[in-house]
Order: sequence, then C-alpha cells, then structure tokens
Amino acid sequence: MLAITMSISPDAVLIPTRDALLGERMQIRRALPSRTQRMIGAWCFLDQAGPADVSTHGMHVAPHPHIGLQTFTWMIEGEILHTDSLGYLQIIRPNQINLMTAGHGISHAETSPEQRSATVYAAQLWIALPDAQFDLPPAFQHYPDVPYLEQQGLRMQVLTGEWLGVHSAVQVYSLLVAVDFEAKEATTASLPLRADFEYGILPLVGSVQIDGQSITMGTLLYLPIGQHHLSISTDAAARFLLIGGEPFQSERIIWWNFVGRSQQEIEQARQDWQHGTRFGQVAGFTDRLDAPELIGLLKTTR
Ligand code: MN
Repeated sequence: MLAITMSISPDAVLIPTRDALLGERMQIRRALPSRTQRMIGAWCFLDQAGPADVSTHGMHVAPHPHIGLQTFTWMIEGEILHTDSLGYLQIIRPNQINLMTAGHGISHAETSPEQRSATVYAAQLWIALPDAQFDLPPAFQHYPDVPYLEQQGLRMQVLTGEWLGVHSAVQVYSLLVAVDFEAKEATTASLPLRADFEYGILPLVGSVQIDGQSITMGTLLYLPIGQHHLSISTDAAARFLLIGGEPFQSERIIWWNFVGRSQQEIEQARQDWQHGTRFGQVAGFTDRLDAPELIGLLKTTR
C-alpha cells in the first residue's frame, strides 16, 4: 500500500477527476477544469493520461488547434511524438517536458512513435496566457533535462517556477510552480509554501493519505491561498504532482481547445479552424479534429 500523510488546511477541497477520452480510445482522468475549481493559478487544465497500454494500438490525437494558452506535457512513462504546424517533430520521453505556446494560434498532433514502450503515462496541462502575452506568436520548446533536489527523503523535480531555491528553465508568463515528488520509501517532510499561491496535489503512483484520509488516484486536492507549510509523510514509496500559482487575475473562457478572453474570440478561432486558416498545417496527417458546434453563451472561469 502506497500512502502519503500531510497536515492540511480545513479549507482544502477534494476534487474527483472525471473520465474523458483522449484521441479515439485513450481513457484519461481530467482534474481541471472541474465544476468546483476552474483554475489553479494560471493552470487551467490537468489531465492524467494513462498509465495506458499502447502495445497494440498507439495513441492518436489528430491535428487540432489551440489559442491563448501553453500546453505543458510531463512524461512519466513511455513516449509521445509531438508534431506541429511550425514544423517541430519531437519525441518526449520520461522526465522530459514539452512546452507549446499557442498564443495567436498553432495546431499539433500527438501520437505514439512506431518504436515505443508498452505503457504510456503523462500529465498534460494547460497554462492560460495573461493579457500581455495572449497573442504571442506560436512557439515550441523541448526540455530534456529537468532540475531536481533531494531533501527529507523526497526527490523533487522542479518542472516550472522555483522550488526550494531550484529554478526551472521552462518559459512561463505567470507566477507558477510545478513539482514532481517521489518518495522511494517511508519518509516525513515539512516544506514551505508561498502563502500568496493556491495549490493542487494529484497522486501519480499509489494512494495518498491526507490527515489520515485516504485519497486514491483520480482525486485532486485543492489548497487555497494562505498556507505556509506542507507536512508530508509517506508509509512507503509514492509519487505525486504539486501545481500552484498566484490566483489568475483575468476572466477566461475555456472551450474545446481554446482559451479566450471573450465569446467573440472563441467563435473566431472556431471559424478559422473550420475554414483551414490561421493554424497552419501539420505535415504527415490526412485527418484532423473537427470543432464541435458552439451553441449559446459560454461561461467564464471566474
Ligand atoms: Mn493539444
């Protein structure tokens, strides 16, 4: 039994993930956006994709567009091939990050490479771009080496922002943090949090105990601003993801693969994709994802 114990605020909220499909057949767990919590800092989307068996059928997410966000892929097991309209072709492997800045518009596909492991497992996140960077030209970066530190029995890979004096090189535009925690055996730790950040914790391996309460995979723990410490103890080996950030200041609409500032912006992006303009071409694909119908008024995040 893998378990983690932490002391948490009474304001902490347990958010169940919901099942969704990625591509044609890959079952994933979606933690954000949820009904109770749309965003954590600028993090506006969090999927736990896998672990899934891709030995027979590989993953296939056909070309689709994005605006107003950065996609952030953290590979836990296996490989994913990223192909985009800027011409980037990049295999991402365990302990590596792919960061795609959509800005004004980009399209990409995600598939399993021909030579691959039997299992694929990744955390896929979106970061909403602030107003000043909303319309950036699209970009793609691959980070093969992620900095880490070891302390109090925990190996902490710093995926985004700063953690205990270690800085990630990943280029983001809001005050954000993301850390992958791994305990190889039972351990106890107390770590400082920023009181001006809100946080989310998602178990990646095993079940989690918080204040004696067991949390299985498929549950996101939300911690509101005002926390100063994270007390962690594990009974055994465990792994979890911590994300956090300054509460996002602007309203956003999250619809399909778009993050927009207004309904009009989303409608325009949908129309541009359906008409084959603005988002370029992803070489090597004959298929593409159709945008769903857009009916009625879309909800903003706040
Ligand atoms: Mn995508």
